[in-house]
Amino acid sequence: MRLDPLHYLHDEVESRRQQGLLSPVHVLDGPQEARASFDHRQVVNLSSNNYLGLTTHPRLRERALEALQRYGTGSGSVRTIAGTMDLHLELERRLAAFKKTEAALVFQSGFTANAGTVSAILTRGDVVVSDELNHASIIDGCRLSRATIKVFPHKDVGAAHKVLRELPVGQRKLLITDGVFSMDGDLGPLQALSDLAEEFGAIMMVDDAHASGVFGENGRGTVDHFGVHGRVDIQVGTLSKALGSVGGYVAGSRALIDFLQDRGRPFIFSTSHPPSAVAASIAAIDVLLEEPGLIERLWENTRFFKAGLRAAGFDTGLSESPITPVIVGDAPVAIKLSEQLFDHGVFAQGIGFPIVPRGKARVRTIVTATHAREDLQYALDTFRKVGRELGII
Ligand code: PMP
Repeated sequence: MRLDPLHYLHDEVESRRQQGLLSPVHVLDGPQEARASFDHRQVVNLSSNNYLGLTTHPRLRERALEALQRYGTGSGSVRTIAGTMDLHLELERRLAAFKKTEAALVFQSGFTANAGTVSAILTRGDVVVSDELNHASIIDGCRLSRATIKVFPHKDVGAAHKVLRELPVGQRKLLITDGVFSMDGDLGPLQALSDLAEEFGAIMMVDDAHASGVFGENGRGTVDHFGVHGRVDIQVGTLSKALGSVGGYVAGSRALIDFLQDRGRPFIFSTSHPPSAVAASIAAIDVLLEEPGLIERLWENTRFFKAGLRAAGFDTGLSESPITPVIVGDAPVAIKLSEQLFDHGVFAQGIGFPIVPRGKARVRTIVTATHAREDLQYALDTFRKVGRELGII
């Protein structure tokens, strides 16, 4: 009998299971809301990126339904053949205006927007200078580009400066950072990095997946928050977090967008995203512009919850956003904390290596605009109780 050549995969998963490193996946059986039903039980949901509760907002639902009725379920083609709908172009115009850039291009996800952009604009011989905690989609894009990758320690502007200084004059280089880091909730030092990019003639790129809809005027992102409009050449964002839909986009100059339309591989080789998702995204921009109270509520809840976790004595790292990690060290402890919280009706995901560095395992919490104060208080009380039982605080 033939030995299964994939047996080593089974061994690897088994070994991670035995070390207590695999977190179970809880299954959502209703809408993605602040109080939601996972595994058929109601929990306070601190695990979604639905920052403004837009996944169930009536205006998004309505626009999505209209588009579904009018255009059907799928786009049926890649953008460059028959899959560019008027809706895609309307969304791109709206995104460019929202981000205050010349143009924008929609991809199927934030992941493909990052990976597709970096891999398209750089090639062998170019250099990318990248924060060590940048998102996996940036890392993959860098690898696909075949450029030389120079990683600098997290937010260490001095180290980035040293790398840039040592590169030959005339070297093509990309300086890249997350706007909000997804596992720590801290912000990229955009002003200082923009200064460096200007000093050394580097292309400046920001991944604002967790910042759009959260930071800046009407949720325009960290470029707006830090007042660096015009100094960041490439802004990537996602439609799948605060915007309540799915998809990613790149905002920048007309030349950048024209180039990506011709060379961004996910744009050219993968079917464009469906009309209902595009229509929901357009409605989400309307909501950001017309209902700024949602963002205010998000921040009120964020301040309340962060203060509560800190007062309880948890290590919440350096977060400055609605993402607040509760750092516990070892992955099995994080997974145990997460599971016991879940047993008490609070869902906050445990995260360990390789998603975060070894020894920095955590339970990651994300509050939204739609959490009720009493639910957040219940979550804090539960964190305190379980944290004490596990000897974390
Ligand atoms: N960048 C960052 C920082 C992210 O956290 C994510 C989502 N995990 C992405 C990009 C990818 O976005 P999407 O989920 O839309 O593919």
